[in-house]
Amino acid sequence: MPCFTFWSPHCSLEESNAKDLAYYTIAFQEAYQFDFIKIIESGMYIPEAFGQVIPPNVTPSMQSWQSVEKWRINHGKEWLQLRPLKVEDSPVFIREMEAGATGLFFGMQNGLNLKLGYEGYRKYEWASSARILDAIKDKCKFRMVHLCNGDGEAIDWALDLPCDAFNWADQQDNMPSLGEVRAKTDKVLIGGIKHNGGKSLDRTTAYLHAPNDFSGACRADVKAVMKKRVEDAIEQAGNKLVICGGCGVDMDARRRFPVFQEVMDEIAEERAAGRK
Ligand SMILES: [Zn+2]
Repeated sequence: MPCFTFWSPHCSLEESNAKDLAYYTIAFQEAYQFDFIKIIESGMYIPEAFGQVIPPNVTPSMQSWQSVEKWRINHGKEWLQLRPLKVEDSPVFIREMEAGATGLFFGMQNGLNLKLGYEGYRKYEWASSARILDAIKDKCKFRMVHLCNGDGEAIDWALDLPCDAFNWADQQDNMPSLGEVRAKTDKVLIGGIKHNGGKSLDRTTAYLHAPNDFSGACRADVKAVMKKRVEDAIEQAGNKLVICGGCGVDMDARRRFPVFQEVMDEIAEERAAGRK
């Protein structure tokens, strides 16, 4: 039976306070009992540390990173002015692994990878990512590479990264299916569920109400879609699979997590009984 998990896009109100973020994360996991937890810290810690100015979030669904007030880089030459951050006790990743984290979620902006082009990607993005993933190989049990958004072409470029698992939006039109990637790698594949059917650029409603596999008024219909997706995913990827979305799910999707749990329980029973 494949493992399964989901994570939410961002903890907009909790992310600025470590205690609030820990409380959110524990409550989420206690409620849904997923097979691994992704800690949803702010993706803006590093740009902010370099001087990017981002307004505070004022609603749980607000994505203030989409409304930068002051850019640190306004011209290409300003990249040359950046100096390494003085982070005490670096490297951070290894410290976290030694503190007891079982795995690492390594997010890459797949859309930006494509903009770099193959040569630029391999030289700047792949090489430094591989260095980090290699450095922690003996420190954790599970290194997962998340290829966020973008286009299918750049998924292939990442498949030889030193990691244990890949996650991308396999249900998105321009992306390779689980079966297509399974033909190229025997690593764990993570996906199968359409987590977000569309994009909103409105910073206060991004990720809300875009149709996805959790959407719809009829519980039985949602369950049927889910069951088909999970069965398709198992068929395509085999058992080295974690059922999940291609990125953080819609804020409202968690109202349907019990339906998803039901689907996974039924499929486990069917497989145990040899009916699948
Ligand atoms: Zn993502």
